Amino acid sequence: MSSKVFLDNAANIVAQDSFISTFHEVQKVSGLNIVEQLWAAYYLYLNNDIFATGLLFFTLHELMYFGRCLPWYIIDHLSYFNKYKIQAAKVPSDQEQWECLRSVLISHFLVEALPIWFFHPICEKIGISYQVPFPSWTTITLQIILFFFLEDAWHYWFHRALHYGDLYRLIHKQHHRFAAPFGLAAEYAHPIEVMLLGFGTVGIPVIWCYFTRNLHLFTISIWITLRLFQAVDAHSGYEFPVSLHHFLFIWAGADHHDEHHHYFIGNYASSFRIWDFVLDTEAGETARKSRERKAKISGELRAAAKQVN
Ligand SMILES: [Zn+2]
Ligand SMILES: [Zn+2]
Repeated sequence: MSSKVFLDNAANIVAQDSFISTFHEVQKVSGLNIVEQLWAAYYLYLNNDIFATGLLFFTLHELMYFGRCLPWYIIDHLSYFNKYKIQAAKVPSDQEQWECLRSVLISHFLVEALPIWFFHPICEKIGISYQVPFPSWTTITLQIILFFFLEDAWHYWFHRALHYGDLYRLIHKQHHRFAAPFGLAAEYAHPIEVMLLGFGTVGIPVIWCYFTRNLHLFTISIWITLRLFQAVDAHSGYEFPVSLHHFLFIWAGADHHDEHHHYFIGNYASSFRIWDFVLDTEAGETARKSRERKAKISGELRAAAKQVN
């Protein structure tokens, strides 16, 4: 199977014996930046697009997930950072981290590895591009922002549903084993939950492209990386003065999700605070502050209405 990685008249560029010489060959094509050159050389050299996409996404997932977990694991072992730990008395033991790592790895190889190999045929069928050049950064950024909001809505409703009766007992309870979460626990979940909530990350871009025919695999790889970072950070268990939600007030972060694990109820959304705020499902301390804020606003409104009358 040969690669269709080039959009234009560069189809005469062929794979060489080594990746480096293939890369040099690709560099002869004008107008490509270094990332596009590496991407094209990778597809061209492997010469099997299904395998190339599968390997790319499997490796990306492993590197980005565990790469992002590593700093949090180190921080857990440095007492200096304990003052930033949200549930300071509950530092995860090595035994807990090891059990979690083993379970996540099994899930990656048994549950997630298989669908990843079907991803390229789906991409080809619905027109997700993997050719070079890539779309503009404006297109990539706008699509990723959109995916963040759509995934957040998906996550809110299905995560909330997973807290009902048997759905919680049979599926979601596994994820709540750690009342004080840590980075590695982000993907510690029942296989059905992995598939259901994972659909928000992978399925939503696929549906978007089905209707718009406007999506690139490179955009999906950036989106998945950012979404993995969001999930790992939300489970880190640490809250800093420089945490993103202090600057971007709708951002959820660890402060938001830690309380979900602590109280087992409320704060169902993944990336943003909007759904939980509007639908009054905030958990713990956040909920108390928010109710006070809402009471204050409605009190002020009533007072203003009285003055008008
Ligand atoms: Zn939950
Ligand atoms: Zn969680």
